[in-house]
Amino acid sequence: MNKTAATSNQHYYDVLIAGSGGAGLSLALRLADTYKVGVLAKFALTECSTYYAQGGISAVFDDKHDSIESHIEDTLIAGAGLCDPEIVRLTVSRGRENIEWLRRQGVHFTERVSASGERQLHLNQEGGHSHRRIVHTDDATGKAVSLSLIEQAKAHSNITLLEYHHMVELITAAKLNEEQPGIRGAYVLDSRLGRVYAIAAKVIVLATGGANKVYLYSTNPHTASGDGIALAWRAGCRIANMEFMQFHPTCLYHPSAHSFLISEAVRGEGGHLILPNGERFMRRYDSRMELAPRDIVARAIDSEIKKHGIDCVYLDISHQPRDFIKKHFPTIYMQCLELDIDIGQQPIPVVPAAHYTCGGIVTDTNARTDIPGLYAIGEAACTGLHGANRMASNSLLECLVFAEQANQDIRRNIGNIPVPRVLPEWDESKVSDSDEEVLIAHNWDELRRSMWDYVGIVRTNKRLERAMNRVILLKAEIAEYYGQFRISSDLLELRNLVTVAELIIRCAQQRKESRGLHYTQDYPMPDNSRPPSNTILLPERFGRG
Ligand SMILES: Cc1cc2nc3c(=O)[nH]c(=O)nc-3n(C[C@H](O)[C@H](O)[C@H](O)COP(=O)(O)OP(=O)(O)OC[C@H]3O[C@@H](n4cnc5c(N)ncnc54)[C@H](O)[C@@H]3O)c2cc1C
Repeated sequence: MNKTAATSNQHYYDVLIAGSGGAGLSLALRLADTYKVGVLAKFALTECSTYYAQGGISAVFDDKHDSIESHIEDTLIAGAGLCDPEIVRLTVSRGRENIEWLRRQGVHFTERVSASGERQLHLNQEGGHSHRRIVHTDDATGKAVSLSLIEQAKAHSNITLLEYHHMVELITAAKLNEEQPGIRGAYVLDSRLGRVYAIAAKVIVLATGGANKVYLYSTNPHTASGDGIALAWRAGCRIANMEFMQFHPTCLYHPSAHSFLISEAVRGEGGHLILPNGERFMRRYDSRMELAPRDIVARAIDSEIKKHGIDCVYLDISHQPRDFIKKHFPTIYMQCLELDIDIGQQPIPVVPAAHYTCGGIVTDTNARTDIPGLYAIGEAACTGLHGANRMASNSLLECLVFAEQANQDIRRNIGNIPVPRVLPEWDESKVSDSDEEVLIAHNWDELRRSMWDYVGIVRTNKRLERAMNRVILLKAEIAEYYGQFRISSDLLELRNLVTVAELIIRCAQQRKESRGLHYTQDYPMPDNSRPPSNTILLPERFGRG
């Protein structure tokens, strides 16, 4: 008879969640009244995209001017024909209740006093949204959300927070040669102790965020190495739409600024994009000017930078009163001032940078992947909400809505899942300590540079082919290294990044048209000869679980 994990010394949780961002922690908090939940974070709990989100969360609160239908319509337009309308409706219609849920977790959103003296949420407007519907906490919404959720999770006796714990590999029934398909647990590296061990769980949730660090320039923290996407792919899940990588148009361009984003809301509040000579160039690209969707703005900036051979363009909000700027953008104001840029009287130097992964692990309405018991939520998942292009501030909403969908589905099904048996220990008998750490740093750099140069904002068949050739070589080198040496966080990330790079290029090569965020000079128009379709990659072991 199999000894169960529950009766051995092996670590066990009912639900193991990889990720301490908005998606992972909101799910943990929803489950914890009933289940033992473990939450892994690769580094500190706050090191995640959620913490750095500035703009806010989209939700319809202005009943007089705005409506759910309008939010749906804007999302569908941004998604360029590839959004799943059912998923869009589900997500958008849950906006208000999720904002209220966050308030109950202690998040304070910025308010205003209406003409009738009533306190209301202050709503911002961002690119692609036809109304003011961005709920925010000044210009540091993610920080407010992240800190509140962490505080709640720390206080909960059913939640174990495991910082500096890196999920290395999923353990599926197929890997254990068990017949009943499903997930059994995962190998996890405690990077502070340098020890890998197995954690058994009935349910595993990948809430690992995006893959934007695959590019040289990114607005994301270094957690965004696509680990969940690579883990799910290796375990046998379908991955979709990886060609749709969103580049944020306005990342601060300054040698001392590390990935600092200048929020979309600066353009929403009247910021002008200008060339060094002061010309407002967006009029040449889109009638919505600076409020055009991100992909259009990012491509316009990329094109101006290449055309004029300049390092950056400028975002100018200095025509607004200084008090207005300080009140609306306190973080951006202070951060720029520290770098001697006074945005009250001078424009901000900006460049585009990789920002959001629209594709990811294919999930259904309940956040289920192709493997029973394995869920994916947040930026790691491809739910169908964003289609070919994410609309600003829809992503935090998606994290919250699909955490709740997963919560409901896990509650319905977990009772039928047996406690996993004791899992095999991680085998380190054939590896030694690395004597060539330089390989990791070098390959990391080469990979990200190739992706930036060849698979960036504007693509061609030839560039994609070049990038793929390099990725194949790097993948072989990294696999050899992985097989020989003891693992580290850096090596795990590099291994996942090269997998994700391959997935992005494969998707991009399959799409013979330009649509949404995918723009190729070889097929510069959308293919309207047939209905738009998702790019779905099938793993070798698809169907085996
Ligand atoms: C600068 C910036 C500004 C943004 N502004 C907005 C905004 O205003 N509105 C909006 O809606 N969206 C915004 N976004 C996007 C949004 O923040 C993200 O899409 C969202 O926060 C993703 O949440 P998540 O929980 O899926 O992932 P994250 O918040 O990125 O969390 C990922 C977690 O997974 C963990 N992890 C990763 N790999 C592993 C592993 N192998 N093992 C264990 N743990 C792992 C990480 O440690 C981390 O805890 C912004 C993003 C950035 C970078």
